[in-house]
Amino acid sequence: MSVSKDLPELAAAIRTGDRRALAKALTLVESRRPEDQVDARTLLVQLAEATPAPALRVGISGPPGAGKSTLIEALGAHALQQKRRVAVLAIDPSSSISGGSILGDKTRMPTLAAAADAFVRPTSAGGVLGGLARNTLDSVAICEAAGFDVVLVETVGVGQSEAAIVGAVDVLVLLVLANAGDELQGLKKGNLEFADILLVNKADGPGVAAAELACGMLRSALGYSPYRAKPPNVMNASALTGAGIPALWDALQQPRERVRQDRAEEHCRNALLDALRDALLERAELQREFSAILREVVAGTLSPSQGAQELLRRGVDVASCPT
Ligand code: GDP
Repeated sequence: MSVSKDLPELAAAIRTGDRRALAKALTLVESRRPEDQVDARTLLVQLAEATPAPALRVGISGPPGAGKSTLIEALGAHALQQKRRVAVLAIDPSSSISGGSILGDKTRMPTLAAAADAFVRPTSAGGVLGGLARNTLDSVAICEAAGFDVVLVETVGVGQSEAAIVGAVDVLVLLVLANAGDELQGLKKGNLEFADILLVNKADGPGVAAAELACGMLRSALGYSPYRAKPPNVMNASALTGAGIPALWDALQQPRERVRQDRAEEHCRNALLDALRDALLERAELQREFSAILREVVAGTLSPSQGAQELLRRGVDVASCPT
């Protein structure tokens, strides 16, 4: 694809909500071709000029079969009823990492696939763990520019994928099955760090009692979680019957401002640290100092922390001198 010349038109078409333009832009950001990546950067800058209203960005994660696509369909339909416009960045159902589902999105999410105010984009796993595309953040920004004010991002919960997705969303919902003993075990190990809401799905029919039990177990286990100060919200729902979906929707609205502020602060800190590091390491005299200090650290005449302190001291001296 070579679209450099047409980028302003493409940006304008995206802003009008043109679905073909939106699909084309998403293909562009997903492309690994260097020239497409340059175009994608330019397009994102153009789109950012007319700052769109930020969407509610929700990550939906969980193992295959937990009910992610059923939940996205139910939650998306609820959001449509609230007059919201819903974009879904879904796992490509034909990809092996999705757990072998062979159904297309028209079957997986029939309401959303047919609705004028919804857009479902299957994203190829592209070899990335969890089926998460490399540029989820960029894809979300494009959906926002196209006027979608809810973006649901689906990913297969395999631990690392939560780490990858968490920076791209406001709220991460992790789906849990009530009777999956191993899964509850697995949850303790790592992905709890990232989930804002643990949703015990399939709380319907004979599953209600098991779901309530699982919620209780999770809440008490989380009371002792070493991973975080504030435990995630534990809820149950049935994606199939819709029970608990309005409560989930309400919960999604609540932490949003706080999370957005935390993320904004974190992004600013990281950007500042990156800029400082780049600014310092670009200075030739500091690079020489760095090599000299490293040699001393390797030789054992300076400890690594002494070396870092020394470099910091000299870095501050260098940074305060004009270039
Ligand atoms: P995914 O692989 O995580 O996307 O899971 P799916 O949404 O495809 O659901 C897997 C299976 O679980 C399907 O047969 C669904 O009909 C079923 N399922 C999903 N949610 C529920 C639920 O809330 N209750 C019940 N009983 N079944 C559900």
